[in-house]
Amino acid sequence: MYRKIPVARPFIDDDDRKVVMEVLNSNTLALGPKILEFEKNMSSYIGVKYGCAVSSGTTGLHLAIRALDIKDGDEVITTPYSFVASSNCILYERARPVFVDIEPVTYNMDPAKIEAAITKKTKAILVVHIFGQTADMDSIMRIAKKHNLKVIEDACESLGAMYKGKSAGSFGDLAVFAFYPNKQMTTGEGGVIVTNSREYVDVCRSLGNQGRSLGDEWLVHERLGYNYRMDEMSAALGITQLAKLDEMIRKRVEIAEEYNQLLSGINGLVLPKVGTYRTHTWFLYVIRVNKGSRDRLMDYLRIRGVQTRPYMPSIHLQPFMKEMFGFQVGDFPVSEEASSQTLALPFYIGLEGEDLRYVVEGVKSYFNHEEF
Ligand SMILES: *Cc1c(COP(=O)(O)O)cnc(C)c1O
Repeated sequence: MYRKIPVARPFIDDDDRKVVMEVLNSNTLALGPKILEFEKNMSSYIGVKYGCAVSSGTTGLHLAIRALDIKDGDEVITTPYSFVASSNCILYERARPVFVDIEPVTYNMDPAKIEAAITKKTKAILVVHIFGQTADMDSIMRIAKKHNLKVIEDACESLGAMYKGKSAGSFGDLAVFAFYPNKQMTTGEGGVIVTNSREYVDVCRSLGNQGRSLGDEWLVHERLGYNYRMDEMSAALGITQLAKLDEMIRKRVEIAEEYNQLLSGINGLVLPKVGTYRTHTWFLYVIRVNKGSRDRLMDYLRIRGVQTRPYMPSIHLQPFMKEMFGFQVGDFPVSEEASSQTLALPFYIGLEGEDLRYVVEGVKSYFNHEEF
């Protein structure tokens, strides 16, 4: 039987629909009570003091860079194996992303390679928690402290993940989560910045709201700002999504375990691994093809109606990055090798059961027919 299985799908229920309708009927569609409630719930879920809701993960990352006053000539250490936004936010302020290669088990930044990349211009480490589990935060925070560097966590892919019992997003000076529809929870478009610093959250709120002063004077603009605000419908959706997040993560863990079990023992296929001290909240289920061809597997599955994605391409080899900085193939070999071998299988609540088994049969059948 022919099926069409998407790579991702949001989970929306009647509670979600109801609260969004209530906002629409209230006539307060922006700058209202839902934003404040969502920020409060989000920061307490992560275990930090403050939250600032924004229009996307990308705009949140930009504000985090501005809050730390990172600017022209500064350097920020980050990972090449990520979604492009984690580096773009550095470029928006004409600072320079300095990449360090990843470790091949969790695909996160390799702490052993950070110190060699630090210079007098280094201001911060922007760590990305990729695919649903954190980087090695003990090592990264130790290095940051030793060299007096700020830390921004791009936790957009790892909401709910824990490292030694502490939440992703509670380690750095600021952290950012994103709620695009393929993430662990969604607000449509949206994001949130979390921090323990009153100063940083005030700067973020002001900058994201046209640089307004935080007092009552509506038309006093203290700094060059933006409109990066989240709206009330999105915030209302965020509140109900967050209320069921732990349940949604439990389902994601179950689906990942089902994949792990059904896909184990295939020669040439590497399954995702969870790093020590960590929990995984499964933004994506990423497999690695180390015999045969990742691209042929993707074609093979597409013909069967199974959508996959070649996550993640290495950022330093994106056309505009090569042009700006002269990066070349071979600069970050661990990241590049992963980029050529990894792909995300369909992964969403509702996939479990027949559709998941159909995906697994497709993968197995490819490896049965592929000549190595
Ligand atoms: C999703 C994501 C973002 C933010 O994405 P938006 O679409 O702007 O919300 C940032 N960094 C990473 C690593 C992401 O996966």
